Amino acid sequence: MIQLSKTSKLDGIMSWSLQALETCPGSKEKGQLVPACAGCYATTNFYLMDSVILPREINRTDWERSGWVADMVQALDNSRYFRWLDSGDLYNVKLAEKVYKVMKATPWVNHWLPTRMHKFSKFKKVFDKMQALPNVSVRFSSDSVTGQYVKGLHGSVIIPTPADLPRGAKLCQAYANGGKCSGCRACYDKKVKLIAYPAHGHKMAKVIKIEVSK
Ligand code: SF4
Repeated sequence: MIQLSKTSKLDGIMSWSLQALETCPGSKEKGQLVPACAGCYATTNFYLMDSVILPREINRTDWERSGWVADMVQALDNSRYFRWLDSGDLYNVKLAEKVYKVMKATPWVNHWLPTRMHKFSKFKKVFDKMQALPNVSVRFSSDSVTGQYVKGLHGSVIIPTPADLPRGAKLCQAYANGGKCSGCRACYDKKVKLIAYPAHGHKMAKVIKIEVSK
């Protein structure tokens, strides 16, 4: 059964998610969590509740069944915006291919997919297909929490404070709106090439302290 979730930040926009870290093969480099994942919000607070973990665990196997794509398309019948993976990542190429089919079959929905799976060449073909769709914004996430990114590759990066905005990036204003998108839909807009998210949360603050001191 399709398990969608709603987070207060996203103005009621629904998301299909997986458990953070255990479905995030791109979260580690040389056996260590990359800075963005070491401070990940989806490993704290609300995300540790059973009611939040359970649908993510169901989704972990549910996508493998044959009717999943059709059920997802039906679940998006009344949506204009959809966020993939509020937590977790597209850890399997077969899952990524199914997500592509959902995106293609729902041209009335603006899809936003943040991911680190671009680190694995076997995903290139499916990401190219997704990015060719007019209704899909795939954002390859930078590992940095201090604003470093690769131009033309990354679509999002974390920055320590709004004052650290990289040149040419769009500043996420959720921090100034009580942590909510408040009508902004920049992440779903493929014309917006790079979004910078000011860091939030105690866990990320500790990671940034370490990274800034390096
Ligand atoms: S850039 Fe806009 S859409 Fe994206 S998270 Fe921030 S407020 Fe929400």
